[in-house]
Amino acid sequence: MTARILAGKDFAAQIKEEAKKQAEAIKEQYGVTPGLAVVIVGSDPASQVYVRNKHKACEALGIYSEVIVLPEDTTKEALLAQIDALNSSRKIHGILVQLPLPAALGSAEAEILDRIDPKKDVDGFHPVNVGRLVTGQPALVPCTPAGCIRMLELAAIPMDGAHAVIIGRSNIVGKPMMNLLLQKNATVTVCHSHTKNLAEITRTADILVAAVGRPRFVTADMVKPGAAVIDVGINRIAPKQLVGDVDFTAVQEVAGAITPVPGGVGLLTIAMLMQNTITAALMQLA
Ligand code: NDP
Repeated sequence: MTARILAGKDFAAQIKEEAKKQAEAIKEQYGVTPGLAVVIVGSDPASQVYVRNKHKACEALGIYSEVIVLPEDTTKEALLAQIDALNSSRKIHGILVQLPLPAALGSAEAEILDRIDPKKDVDGFHPVNVGRLVTGQPALVPCTPAGCIRMLELAAIPMDGAHAVIIGRSNIVGKPMMNLLLQKNATVTVCHSHTKNLAEITRTADILVAAVGRPRFVTADMVKPGAAVIDVGINRIAPKQLVGDVDFTAVQEVAGAITPVPGGVGLLTIAMLMQNTITAALMQLA
């Protein structure tokens, strides 16, 4: 069997098209342009690329975008003051602080992210949004797992009653993915570095989500024939070579559907950020 390739660009295009239409509808109904502010501290080259891509995506969809670049030596107090100003700005409906923060601010990361108004928290990292997700209330949900769920929906991969196995339990991917799959009526198993007999568990998965951060960690013998394999991992193994957490070449011979890296889940993350900005605007305007 050769798996169906789930190309991120096709699903991302659909999500962005929906977001563009919603942005137009908000302008018509409320006379307001949804706005996203991205705050970047320091000059990490990878972060600068991500921020530029976010800005471009906003422009293409008719979302107002502000990029606030702060110097590497910005104090915690100055960053908190910047967030306060964005929290009260009427032009801004979504706020994202680009991670990682410089080392000097790293220990204050939770305090900094918690300062964002939960209604503007388009990364979905604020404890209020985490609690809302867990309790099934309307929430802003982290973009990467939200994008994976939207892709499964658009690809018509059944989640109801499926056994979903997630490798990884981070707050950014694994845990929100667990809650989102539960909401879709999947039976969910979450594995991590202490899990025993991992391959035995993953071989029972109808949907296998790899969010480990280890190159080609998931091998063909760990996959049930016909399973949908979602590879969240992004691992740089050479200056110009990115690979996922799944051994794509071998696993595509076993799986029923698989996301490539690059060109898979990564493209959905920005699309969902656009969608979250629209959702945040609607929550604030309604
Ligand atoms: P973390 O490092 O926070 O979490 C990794 C998880 O993998 C942990 O829960 C860890 O277990 C588990 N793990 C590590 N080793 C093993 C092992 N041998 N067996 C089983 N489980 C193991 O990573 P993130 O969740 O932040 O990211 C995961 C990957 O996804 C990375 O490659 C990252 O770059 C990528 N990513 C991609 C995004 C995108 O847009 N496509 C967005 C976010 C992340 P334990 O908890 O026990 O330590």
